[in-house]
Amino acid sequence: MEILNGTQTALNIKESLTKDIEENLIKKGLPSPKLCVIIIGSNPASEIYVAGKVKACSKVGIQSEVYRLPENVKESEVIDVINKLNRDKTINGILLQMPLPPHLNEQKLINLISSNKDVDGLTQTNLGKLMQQDESGLLSCTPFGIVKLLKSYNIDLKGKDVVIINRSLLVGKPLALMLLNENATVTICHSKTKDIAEKTKKADIVIVAVGKKNFLTKDMIKDDAIVIDVGINRDTNDNKKICGDVDFENVSKKTSYITPVPGGVGPMTIAMLLRNTYIATISSYKTKEE
Ligand code: NAP
Repeated sequence: MEILNGTQTALNIKESLTKDIEENLIKKGLPSPKLCVIIIGSNPASEIYVAGKVKACSKVGIQSEVYRLPENVKESEVIDVINKLNRDKTINGILLQMPLPPHLNEQKLINLISSNKDVDGLTQTNLGKLMQQDESGLLSCTPFGIVKLLKSYNIDLKGKDVVIINRSLLVGKPLALMLLNENATVTICHSKTKDIAEKTKKADIVIVAVGKKNFLTKDMIKDDAIVIDVGINRDTNDNKKICGDVDFENVSKKTSYITPVPGGVGPMTIAMLLRNTYIATISSYKTKEE
């Protein structure tokens, strides 16, 4: 069994990104990329994620700005902020931190972000470009991070049977498209799927993003399967330590490759956010030249 080390892979990506920013922007007298994160309300988990993103930005030479709005903010005020950031030429990436308070319509607000600044890759335009295999789009960070991690270990996806347990817009749907584009054969499972184990047992790669500790057990996979654990849970039995959806101790004994939690998909997601911010910045100069 080999660990798919997301921390190390993300570090390698961040190192090359730091060089790219230096060579292609700073040395040419251009400003470093700038990411703006909008956070609404005071969700403790969101605060931790945003702090992590801000710290990661500073390490590679990306500027960041956090825009805080109160829990009871009106939709029209959020729209005003998004429009202002869309127009601001000094800002290259805009990220709306999820979850939003229940009175706000997530999808509607995401779609207002300019697709050129949509570093989470979640607008209709960028998801549509993924569907059409148009490489000018920005790819959503978690699925893209998973594909990058598999590729960095030279895992050939062509013809592989992949089962994804998740159908969200954030993870399962874009991931299925990215894997199809890599010529994998993809099955998506969800809470209404009849017999998940029957499907996962036949899969070469199982990707689980359910949000339930120990959801994937060893009897659900075949020998030498590759397992990607996207879940992030707090283990109530173990000092609220972070854990994934996989019974790692037992499942890992059967796998050829497996991601740990923490240290697997999480760091790759952040690395892809940084990469997207850089790509959005470079593309903005290309657009101006054209
Ligand atoms: P979500 O929108 O709640 O999606 C959860 C998915 O799991 C849904 O498709 C749901 O099915 C399915 N599901 C729930 N219970 C199930 C069951 N008993 N059997 C089969 N499927 C079941 O959540 P999300 O935003 O996609 O995130 C999923 C997990 O990934 C969370 O733990 C989240 O924290 C984590 N995550 C991690 C990263 C990272 O960077 N590591 C990034 C994003 C998300 P239905 O569609 O039928 O409800």
